Amino acid sequence: MSNEAEKARVSKRRLKDENAVRKQVKIAKAHGLTDKDKQIKQPHRYAKHHAMDCGNPGCVLCSNPRHNKMYKTKDKLTIQERKFFQNMDDAKRFKDDDE
Ligand SMILES: [Zn+2]
Repeated sequence: MSNEAEKARVSKRRLKDENAVRKQVKIAKAHGLTDKDKQIKQPHRYAKHHAMDCGNPGCVLCSNPRHNKMYKTKDKLTIQERKFFQNMDDAKRFKDDDE
């Protein structure tokens, strides 16, 4: 079953996968990995794993707090959300000082 449409679809999928891996290698190089590192020599390691996380789903540092059982219910906000609310609190405090 190899018609032209199927071949085009598969080659497009493969190109997308290759581009995603290339992008992760670029990110890894930007953060200091060199050609001597395993991740650069074997780029397919980034096929299902991003350059900036460790690949461990339960990791306290880089996993999503909503999906991690380590965090208590109160702390289940992501880092970005905590930062946003902290900025809002700071802005409110500034406003209160002016009055
Ligand atoms: Zn991690």
